[in-house]
Amino acid sequence: MNLLDLDLEGLTAWFQAIGEKPYRARQVLRWLHQRGAEDFEQMTDLAKGLREKLTQMAQIRAPTLIAEQTAVDGTRKFLLEVGPGNRVETVFIPETDRGTLCVSTQVGCALACSFCATGRQGFNRNLSVAEILGQLWWANKVLGREPGGERLISNVVLMGMGEPLLNFENLVTALSVMLDDHAYGLSRRRVTVSTSGIVPAMDRLRERMPVALAVSLHAPDDDLRNELVPINRKYPLRELLAACRRYVAAAPRDFITFEYVMLDGVNDSPAHARALIELTRDVPCKFNLIPFNPFADAGYRRSPPQTVRRFASELQAAGRIATIRKTRGDDIDAACGQLAGEVEDKSRRVLRRMDRQTAEVAA
Ligand code: SAH
Ligand code: SF4
Repeated sequence: MNLLDLDLEGLTAWFQAIGEKPYRARQVLRWLHQRGAEDFEQMTDLAKGLREKLTQMAQIRAPTLIAEQTAVDGTRKFLLEVGPGNRVETVFIPETDRGTLCVSTQVGCALACSFCATGRQGFNRNLSVAEILGQLWWANKVLGREPGGERLISNVVLMGMGEPLLNFENLVTALSVMLDDHAYGLSRRRVTVSTSGIVPAMDRLRERMPVALAVSLHAPDDDLRNELVPINRKYPLRELLAACRRYVAAAPRDFITFEYVMLDGVNDSPAHARALIELTRDVPCKFNLIPFNPFADAGYRRSPPQTVRRFASELQAAGRIATIRKTRGDDIDAACGQLAGEVEDKSRRVLRRMDRQTAEVAA
């Protein structure tokens, strides 16, 4: 049993199952996540016998930290190995009033949004709870604490590689540890899940673990969104916006954040802005405009700054809140949409295998 895979509930049940007192779970959770313990011998307030028993029955296994880079603006990127041929990235973004860790949830992503480097790589598998939490575990360890003893990471955004809501159970367990006072103790308002719009899972998240929600909108109509965010064909805008309204009713924040990537000449005209205002009329929301971050053979250009400002002004003139996301860490390919890690792509391999079979049948 890898104890980094368990939240308080799971750990309590596990201790009971091995004949130990349930309160041990709180103690061990604090060792694991607040003090970053790497083995059971460090847990000095557990009796020696129990430490030996745990050493035999359990593991503390985080992904392997392979590399670390720091950008000129202080953004830091960590590369973690999660098995042969597969690596994911996590990014720490320091700001004056907070420190945000951007966490990955899958090795690659199957949703293939046309402007996203992760989407281009295809998909390998979901990350385990230990692999999701392992990013926070490592980053906390490496970053250390502020002189006052405060942690540098005050916010977590699930905006790294992958679609969090397609790894639902592991996401919810990892969130539960992030929010737990015996572990990371983050407030629900400071943990944000970003989704491309998996409607049924948005409803489940609202019921199980309502944290702040960001929705990747990127287009004001279905035709354009089908092209940019192909999952829109399954969950079109009407259904997506209805799910957003349901979510706001239970959310820790009284708005949804709509992310909107600014692609030159594609979705960035004043007419698009006006259509967006109309579309989101009934949803309490804030807009976060993300200047497109380029990667090799992306096939898109970033909207010029004046176009982004004009788009923001249109929204603001209609009484909407719109901010422009600052590009951080792009000199180390750590900006939104640039995370690539290393993905041994199963989806494409399957396709290639099918192609080969088709070719063999034809021959
Ligand atoms: N799969 C989730 C979360 C990960 S992507 C989602 O799509 O919401 C996090 C954010 O980065 C999303 O809003 C995504 O659309 C945006 N993004 C992806 N590629 C980008 C790029 N090349 N430039 C700027 N933003 C990008
Ligand atoms: Fe996946 Fe999000 Fe990238 Fe789309 S933008 S391919 S959903 S990671």
